[in-house]
Amino acid sequence: MSCDHKLCGNIQKVWLPYEFRGHLKGLKSHPYCLKCGVIKNISSDRARPLGYYMNILSRLPITKVQTRLIAKDMEEFWDFEDIFSITSFLQEQIFINIVKKYSSLSEHTIKGAL
Ligand SMILES: [Zn+2]
Repeated sequence: MSCDHKLCGNIQKVWLPYEFRGHLKGLKSHPYCLKCGVIKNISSDRARPLGYYMNILSRLPITKVQTRLIAKDMEEFWDFEDIFSITSFLQEQIFINIVKKYSSLSEHTIKGAL
């Protein structure tokens, strides 16, 4: 992430659909970054640091090799993802998909660990 994000002022805010954990909750005014245009995540559903997901990974019944492969994919994702705009709901979907790619764990098992 190269942008250090400069938020727009109140009058420049844009009205957009507001989503909370996959459910639409009407329109809300969102601030956005004047430099790169990304919309700020204004919900309380905040993105979590990579370490949070690595902790969950260590509790799942998977091998060391699987852990390493999943961790590598996660790190690549976190490199280009932006916690300014992403929600933890979306992070969880991505985490589940990556774990499923390298293990035979069911979505139910992975969700249970979150
Ligand atoms: Zn920006």
